[in-house]
Amino acid sequence: MSSPGKISPIRDTSAVARAERGLVSIVVPVFNESANLPSLWSRLKPVLDGLDRAWETVFIDDGSRDDSLGILREIAAGEEGRVRVVELARNFGQHSAILAGFKQSRGDIVVTLDADLQNPPEEIPRLIAAIDEGNDVVGGWREERHDQAYRKYASRLHNRLTSLIVGVPMHDYGCMLRAYRRHIVDTVVDCDEKAAFVPALANSFAKRVAEIPVGHDDRASGQSKYNLFSLAKLSLNLITGFSLAPIQLLSMTGIGISMLAVTMAVVLLAHRLIYGPQEEGALWTLFAVLFFFIGMIFLALGLIGEYAGRIYIEVRRRPTYIVRAVHGVSDQPVDSDGD
Ligand code: UDP
Ligand code: MG
Repeated sequence: MSSPGKISPIRDTSAVARAERGLVSIVVPVFNESANLPSLWSRLKPVLDGLDRAWETVFIDDGSRDDSLGILREIAAGEEGRVRVVELARNFGQHSAILAGFKQSRGDIVVTLDADLQNPPEEIPRLIAAIDEGNDVVGGWREERHDQAYRKYASRLHNRLTSLIVGVPMHDYGCMLRAYRRHIVDTVVDCDEKAAFVPALANSFAKRVAEIPVGHDDRASGQSKYNLFSLAKLSLNLITGFSLAPIQLLSMTGIGISMLAVTMAVVLLAHRLIYGPQEEGALWTLFAVLFFFIGMIFLALGLIGEYAGRIYIEVRRRPTYIVRAVHGVSDQPVDSDGD
């Protein structure tokens, strides 16, 4: 596991061979959405039929306890292989469901969409057009969100944080109406991460990223599957999944406390030299020594954390770099985009 070759810098190309040129895949995670599915399909299908290219839809039933699976299977039965339903064994969460859908999808372009009709399917052609313009990832930006107020504030914070951590600024990382090129989808699937936040992971592999304003509606029926706790969990996953900053903060705090302790000792010494011995001098000196050692303990924890963090980065096995094509070699398949 330690040899650099094992990290597989060049992605396994078998998945690319599966991809079908000119095909658009729509990936929809579904968890207890039986009330929304018929209207979703009655709006999504005409949009797809209106596209100037072939399409497929992959629904992922994320362990629904209602009739979602039955409805999805009925939709698939009427579509002769263009609609597939991935039935997960239990509820694994929206992002895991999307990963399962990514793996099943074959399109050159893959679009994700929520099943509750908050993302208007009518926006899909605009996302595809933006991918055609040469972007690797196109994110929807819900300028006017129809969600509860606390969600909007939490989301604003989440977007700032994600932009900072991923290094790709975006207004709306939470909008799941997004389009990806095949090679991005393949890389995300290859990562096989347990707590992946798909838009952030995808952006970290993209060369060109765009964001277009999209409509946002109230949930057609039912309630959001997220509460404040699950949103906080998602943010924490994101921070620990993308950066070692929390560990580094620990070391920095340690260094800070130790430096303050040294300053305190110097001040105490100067005080003693100028004013002579004081009654509480010994007590303050003890405090300075104590602070110094507390700082050292923080620093030691941070250092141990740094090593643990490095091990974490290695076992996560994200590609160090991704080669899309090698140009100027006649027998090498050149990338479909011709760049
Ligand atoms: N979803 C899922 N698994 C889950 C939670 C949600 O597949 O554990 C799906 C859900 O059915 C919907 C999408 O993910 O299609 C977004 O969920 P939701 O509308 O609850 O999230 P919100 O819009 O409130 O962020
Ligand atoms: Mg929703």
